[in-house]
Formats: sequence, C-alpha cells, structure tokens
Amino acid sequence: MSASTPITIIGGGLAGLTLGIGLRQRGVPVVIWEAGCYPRHRVCGEFISGRGQAVLERLGLLACCHLAGAVPARTAMFVCGPKRSPVRPLPVPALCLSRHRLDALLAETFQQAGGELRVQARRTMAEEVEGVVHASGRRTQPAEAAPHWFGVKAHVPRACPVPLEADLEMHIARDGYIGVNRIGDGEVNVCGLFRARPDGRRSESKTEWLRGEPGSLLRERLRAAEFDPESFCSVAGLQLRPQRAADRAGCRIGDALTLTPPVTGNGMSMAFESAELAVEPLADYSQGRLDWAAAQRRLAQRCDAVFARRLMWARRLQWLMLSPALPGRLEAVLLRSDWLWRFLFARTR
Ligand SMILES: Cc1cc2nc3c(=O)[nH]c(=O)nc-3n(C[C@H](O)[C@H](O)[C@H](O)COP(=O)(O)OP(=O)(O)OC[C@H]3O[C@@H](n4cnc5c(N)ncnc54)[C@H](O)[C@@H]3O)c2cc1C
Repeated sequence: MSASTPITIIGGGLAGLTLGIGLRQRGVPVVIWEAGCYPRHRVCGEFISGRGQAVLERLGLLACCHLAGAVPARTAMFVCGPKRSPVRPLPVPALCLSRHRLDALLAETFQQAGGELRVQARRTMAEEVEGVVHASGRRTQPAEAAPHWFGVKAHVPRACPVPLEADLEMHIARDGYIGVNRIGDGEVNVCGLFRARPDGRRSESKTEWLRGEPGSLLRERLRAAEFDPESFCSVAGLQLRPQRAADRAGCRIGDALTLTPPVTGNGMSMAFESAELAVEPLADYSQGRLDWAAAQRRLAQRCDAVFARRLMWARRLQWLMLSPALPGRLEAVLLRSDWLWRFLFARTR
C-alpha cells in the first residue's frame, strides 16, 4: 500500500479544523498552520443555523458542542426603531456556542485524531501549491473601497442578565444591525455589523456602538449590562461580495472561498459544509485516486452547486435589510410578513 500524501491547511478556524478532523477520520496525514492560538474570541454572532449542524453531527462533533455548553435558539425577533416583529419560531432551531469554546474544542478534537496543529504560526504560500488548502478566513478590502464594513462583538457575562424576548433579537440600526443571543452559561453575545458613515465620523467607542442608538429598545435592554473586556473584538474592511469557487485560484474553503453576508447567520455553517465537501476529493488526492487539479475542480464544482443560489438570496437579504436606499424597507417586509421571513430564512441556508 502506498503512503498517503499529506495535506497542509492554512488557517485553523472552523473550516480548517473541520476539514482536518474529516481528513484524519479517513487516515489522511494533516498539518494545520494557525496564526493565532486557542482559546480565542472571534467577531461572530455565534449562532449556528442551517445545514452545518448536520455536518457536525456526521463528524461526531455535535454531542461535544452540547457538552461544551451550546444552547438552542428557537425564536427570533426583529426590531427596527419603534417597530418590532412578533416573536417568531425559527423554522429550524439554531445552536449557540461561544467561539472561544467552539474553536478550542475543534482544535483539541483535531489533535486527538492525530492531526498536527502548529499554533502562532502564520504561513504564506502561493495559491496553487499542490496539497495546500486555504482556510485562512475572510479577505479584507482596501480602505478606499466602499462601502466599508466593521464587525464588533462582546459578551455580557451572566452576572448582568440581559432581558430578551426572543432567543435571537436582531436590532436594525441606521448603519447596520446588532444581533443579541444567549450562548450558554448565562452569557449573552452582542455582535454587530456596521457601515462606515459617509463623513467617516463615529466618535463613541466601539462598545458603545453595540449598545444601539439612544432611545432604542437595545439600549434599554443593555442598560445595566457590562461587557466582558476580554471578549471584545472587532474587524474592519469586510469584503461582503460573494465569490464563485470556479473563479478563484487555489483550493479554498470557508470564508477564504466566499463570505456570506453575516446577517444570514450562515457563515459558520458554510465553513462546516465546505469543509465536509472537501473531505472526499482531498482524501482521494492524498490516497492517489485523483490528481490535484481534479481534486480542486471537484471541490469547486461541489461548492458552487451547493452555495450559488444561497449566496444570491443572501445578497438580496442583506440589501433589503441594510441598504440606505430603502428607508422603511424592513417595516414593510420582514417585520410584517411571516411568509417572507420564512421564505428568506429557507433560501439563505
Ligand atoms: C459581524 C459578523 C457576525 C457573524 N455572525 C455569524 C453568525 O451569527 N453565524 C454564522 O454562522 N456566521 C457568522 N459570521 C461568519 C462566521 O464568523 C464566519 O463565516 C466563520 O468564522 C468562517 O470560518 P473560517 O474558518 O472560514 O474563518 P475563520 O474562523 O476566520 O478562521 C480563519 C483562521 O485562519 C487563520 N489565518 C489567517 N491567515 C493565516 C495565515 N497566513 N497563516 C495561518 N493562519 C492564518 C486565522 O487566524 C483564523 O484563525 C459572522 C461574521 C461577522 C463578520
């Protein structure tokens, strides 16, 4: 029997670690290079919704997530200025778990499965190197490109209970949105996506951005809340334009392939799904049944087949909710129409 060719994964986030675990389950030697270390906080709504939960189950990881304290989210509510949607049941419950725990859990599982994890090891490699998978996360766009998006998140510890009517509350603001949801252990995650203002001014601190606009329901909800300073993180220059795998150089999964608008709450799921889609072609390459170009092509075709329609709807949803050209849009549609909410929920996952 010939030895398997090793796979190198750049990026030990959700996509890279999930792929690493899937490949180790097939006996493939894997090295993951991760620039950071574990545990660490990430800018994320920490709301796993969509087919990714089934991927976690197939890889034997769902039970570990529950053991790590994941909690289900069963209801959602939208708030826009003084208007609120009813509290609606989520068509399929989501799973909420702090990235601080989730990424560390996957890293540990990967190592227990015999994978080699190199932490605090930033690695740069040409896109087309054989046997190398790019799972290095989101691309940032140049500062001069418009619109310029920021992501900010912080946790409120259990000592400061936040009164929520729904498991996920989406508060739409003038410049973006802020999602608030429980993540287990009585903690609440507050995570927002914000568009830079045309005049570039925003004087208050980023934690103030998370509290919502003066007089808003969110500000009232968070009146007594203190953020855990350790959990605070932010990213700038998010590139939200969807990409097709067939148009991209190199072997890519997760956000390194394409970012779905965060408002869908489906990015983590896409990281898990794209990792699972990569396991078979890469195991076939590693074990000599497929050459590298064919493995890459098969992965790209699979990703485009699964994600193209979802990304198109995600873009429409993002526009509907956050376009400055549509004042009052949310009140007219998502807040009122139960049918439309269910339709968009289904199409974006
Ligand atoms: C504001 C906001 C809110 C969001 N909310 C949600 C949500 O509620 N639900 C949801 O499903 N998704 C959400 N997402 C999206 C989700 O966070 C991402 O889709 C997901 O983290 C993608 O996983 P990934 O593994 O591809 O990338 P990442 O998790 O970003 O991991 C990439 C890893 O690569 C490492 N790396 C980068 N470059 C190198 C290098 N050169 N060498 C070595 N390592 C490197 C990084 O350190 C990082 O650990 C949100 C995103 C944003 C911005």
